[in-house]
This record gives sequence, structure tokens and C-alpha cells, in this order.
Amino acid sequence: MAQASVPDLGSFLPASPSRVKINLLDITPAAASESVAAFLRERGEPSYRLGQIMPALWQAPVSSFQEVTTLPAALRDALDEAFELPRLTLSVHQVSTDGTQKFLFRLHDGQSIETVSIPDGDRITVCISSQVGCALQCAFCATGLMGFARNLHPSEIAGQVRELALLETPLRPTNIVFMGMGEPLMNWPAVDTALTILNHPDGCGIGARHITVSTVGVLPGIVALGQRPEQFRLAISVHAPSDALRRTLMPINVKYPLETVIRAAADFDRRVTFEYVMLGGVNDQPAHADELAALARACGAFVNLIPLHPGGAGDFTPTSAASIRAFAERLRRAGIEVATRKSRGKDIAAACGQLRVERLRRGANHPTDEDRQVDEPRAVGPGLDRRPA
Ligand code: SAH
Repeated sequence: MAQASVPDLGSFLPASPSRVKINLLDITPAAASESVAAFLRERGEPSYRLGQIMPALWQAPVSSFQEVTTLPAALRDALDEAFELPRLTLSVHQVSTDGTQKFLFRLHDGQSIETVSIPDGDRITVCISSQVGCALQCAFCATGLMGFARNLHPSEIAGQVRELALLETPLRPTNIVFMGMGEPLMNWPAVDTALTILNHPDGCGIGARHITVSTVGVLPGIVALGQRPEQFRLAISVHAPSDALRRTLMPINVKYPLETVIRAAADFDRRVTFEYVMLGGVNDQPAHADELAALARACGAFVNLIPLHPGGAGDFTPTSAASIRAFAERLRRAGIEVATRKSRGKDIAAACGQLRVERLRRGANHPTDEDRQVDEPRAVGPGLDRRPA
């Protein structure tokens, strides 16, 4: 009885230290290359094998080294024994009528994250997640509703891009934005490594200027990003031009008030973008435009106006298209460069956190939905686009 419940610790431990596999996707391509090179040396393999192996990580990804048919079978087996190339499990794949695609990936511990791909001319922008859930509770954001579960590992962040290359019709993004679930600068060590992987020629090879980190304004993270030598871009979720209003929409403003965020943006050695979700009657008045213009001028920011995506949190109304145009025009007249983001993928709940929240809400009643939709790209009707009850 009592004895029977004592766990057999031996079964939890690897048989020998050499059996512990190295996850090649959780470290920088340079570190992975060193690790594989050392492995090859130890086995007395010719060094040119390294050049045959490295593309399997990010450039021409595989599930296991068995697929690298240029390698002798014995070496493939040995690689699979020594190293891991972990996959994410695609549980839902939806395609919007406008070409936007949304992916829900299941992680090894059963958690789920979202990735969105947005085609626009010859560009494919992929929006990736950096955390499971989010601790920040911005008033209009669906991800905040689910709370914070955990940080993602580098292999799970960059792995979202890797999985798209493994689709039957592979997707190769030209641009990456950290605008999925989570606050990237509250998971800096993993995001730091993931940025290297996404940008490195032996990684995904995406130019640093085409990779944007979006933050509510986590100051230490902004400094850390600014210290990277590559030209990664920074976007700041401003959403309100005064502390009094911003505090009501974004609780983080208590810890990092607007003034400190604007100063950090001014000190950032590259041009930053302000993100500004247009909330009807809340932050979209002419006086708000004037205040916002002053902030943008103070740090030379470009302003991106974002139409509110239905299906987020809270009880907000989108600003009308005409009012958004007037707001933009007022900023422009104040000398600020401004663009209005096109709203995409509305029919598949493609804004931050929406799909996962929908799943959680419906989960108890529709336990088999996810399985039914595995690998079944299709347009999804308005059923997934409901606002919270
Ligand atoms: N935590 C980071 C990145 C994730 S959110 C950040 O806040 O910047 C990415 C962007 O989507 C943010 O600007 C966020 O405010 C915005 N967003 C969240 N919910 C939205 C909604 N319902 N409609 C439009 N934009 C939304």
C-alpha cells in the first residue's frame, strides 16, 4: 500500500548521461553547429558532414535525421540518438477568405499557442507568440483573458516559423512580427535566442529589419533589444496618449509610465513604431490625436493606427473608418508619419489570442472540434468570431 506508491526513481533518470539528447532547436545556430561538429569529430566523421546536417535544423527542416538521405544510415541513427529536433503539433489550421491563415499549435505539455500568416502582395508576414497566455491584462486583448501560463522556449518561438516550412504547402515568411500571444520583452532570454535563430543565415535567414518586436513598453527589454547589433525593429503598444487613460487600458502603465516608455523609445537607436488601437469614444478624439502627435514627435516615432479587431476582451466599439481617417489626417497635419493597418482575418478570429480563447470557451462542449479540423484548411464562418459573452 504505502510501499507500492513509492515511485521508482530509476525510471525518471536517463540510463546514462550520454543518453540525454541535445535539443538543437533551443540554441543558436552557431551553438548547434559547434555541438554537431564536436559529435562528428568524436565519431571520426569527415567535417563536410556538418554542411549536410545543418540545413535540417532551419533551412530545409526535417522531423528526424532519417529524412536526410545524403547521410549514411548509421550516422542518421546516431544523430537521432544524440540530438532532438522537436516538433510542434498542428491542431487547428484555418484559412480566411482574405488569405490570412491561422494556426493553433499544441506544445509538448498540452498548452496551445497561435501563429498567424498574413499575405500582402509579395510579402508574407507571420505573427508569432512568445508566451502561453499573457500576464498584462490589456483591457481589449483576448490573450489577457486566459492569464499567463508560461514562457515559450526558443525552439517553440522560432519553431512556429519552422512548422510553416514543414507544411504540405510550405510557407516561407518574409517578415516576422512578435504580435501573437504574450509579451516578448517579458521573456527576453528566449526571445533573444529566437531572434538570432530567425535572422541567422543558418537559421531562418530573415533580415533583421523585417523582424519586429512589439511591446507594451518593458524598459529593460527595450534596452536589451537596442543593444543587439542587428537592426531588429521595435513597436510600442501605446494605445493612449496620457497616463490617466493608459492606466485604465493597460495596467502595465503603473510600472512603466508613458513618459519613461517614450524616453526609452527616443534612446532606441533605430526608429520605432507606435501601435494605437482605435477604441470608439475612448481614445479616438481630436484631443487624443494632438497628445499622441506630441509623443510621437518627442521620439521620432511612426504611428500605426489599428482598427479594433472584434472578439477581443472588454466591451469596446471600433472607431468608424471615417473617424480613423480624420484621426490619421490630424496626426499627418501635425507632421507625424502615420499608416492605418488593414484588418485581416476577421472571419477566423485572427487577432491576438482569439482562437485559443474561443477554443477554451467552447472546449467543454466540443471536445472533438480540434481533432476534426487537423490539417483541414478551410474558410470558417462567423461562428468563431463571437465577442466574449
Ligand atoms: N504584448 C505585445 C505583443 C502582443 S499584442 C504588445 O502588447 O505589443 C500585439 C498587438 O495587438 C498589440 O499592439 C495589442 O495591443 C494589439 N491587440 C490586442 N488585442 C487587439 C484587438 N482586439 N484589436 C486590435 N489590436 C489588438
